[in-house]
Amino acid sequence: MKMLEDTSRAWVLVHLDALRHNVEEVRRLLPEKTNLIVVVKANMYGLGAVRCVKEFQKMGIDFFAVSSIDEALQLRENGIYDDILILGYTPPVHFHYLIEYDLIQTLLSYEYAVELDAYAKTQNAYVRCNAKADTGMGRVGVRCVENDYHIEELIKIYQLTNLKVEGMFSHFSVSDEVEDEKQILYTNQQIKQFEQVEQDLRNAGIDPGYLHLQNSLGIINYPQLCYDFARPGIILCGVSSDENMPMRQQIDLWPVLELKANVSRVKEVPAHASISYGRNFETDKPSRIATVSIGYADGYSRNLNGLARVLIHGEYAPVVGNICMDQCMIDVTHIPDVKEGDVVTLVGKDGDRALSLDEMSHHLKTINNATLCLFSARLPRIYVK
Ligand SMILES: *Cc1c(COP(=O)(O)O)cnc(C)c1O
Repeated sequence: MKMLEDTSRAWVLVHLDALRHNVEEVRRLLPEKTNLIVVVKANMYGLGAVRCVKEFQKMGIDFFAVSSIDEALQLRENGIYDDILILGYTPPVHFHYLIEYDLIQTLLSYEYAVELDAYAKTQNAYVRCNAKADTGMGRVGVRCVENDYHIEELIKIYQLTNLKVEGMFSHFSVSDEVEDEKQILYTNQQIKQFEQVEQDLRNAGIDPGYLHLQNSLGIINYPQLCYDFARPGIILCGVSSDENMPMRQQIDLWPVLELKANVSRVKEVPAHASISYGRNFETDKPSRIATVSIGYADGYSRNLNGLARVLIHGEYAPVVGNICMDQCMIDVTHIPDVKEGDVVTLVGKDGDRALSLDEMSHHLKTINNATLCLFSARLPRIYVK
């Protein structure tokens, strides 16, 4: 598919000034010595990883995290030679890329580390790695929770000859919770376990290397922590996972993303006109209906049927009838002069009014992280300063 970098049908606007502002805000919250490993997985939460990394580089950031080898190679192939940490599973058939492209692999388990070390030996090479301690997330890493504490596995990982274990990290599972005592205790316990792991490694004569623990909400809600790095992702996009979650510190986030599309047709219809597939909407009076050139193939989910609204000419208008693959319809009876080519805002600002990503996430019964991942590759990303 030829990607036209323009605003002819539907597009994502990425505000680079907002991205930079959010980085500054995150830096403001962190101690001086804590640097950033910016998490740019899932194409930087849909914003476009390559372009965003280039912007982060201008701000002095030189360490990035991705979820997969494919994402890492995409950055390398676009001339990004900074440190790249792969957070997820790299299958053994792709181990050679880690060496060829000087990537840093997360060690997902003791067995995985042994497997990678054995491969590195066959190549007479060293692989850069980060050890991972599972302090309670229950996903990947060596189990390091109370009553299931395998420090000996971590020690053995550091002793593998062909792995260069240059850092160690863990990940929070409920750092966004600041009201539920049980959840706060859980996060505090995760912090305690991480400190214990560090101490036990040092007691065993091992230098664990650089350490990092906090994700976005870990940065905001646990400001007492002072590690070498923090790993923000979602807050750099200018949103938290859920706007209604209280936070322990004020942070001034600017939304980075807007979602826009064009009007392709406007028509006057009488009462009782049926609109779209399934005939779930019928006009109750003579109405003006505009067709908008965006649909669920672009990530404008069918689960928004009957719920979503858009902005056009600075006014709200409801989406009516089922959202189609490439198009949807809006009722603009109350808005004069809507015509083909007008810009419709599905997320973002139009005049004095705005439609938040949170509103869309609320309709979709999900978090902003997941909504951002819906916006498909078909939408050109347009970067504005
Ligand atoms: C996704 C991810 C992050 C970033 O999380 P946000 O909540 O988006 O800041 C950090 N660390 C790991 C291991 C992750 O998987």
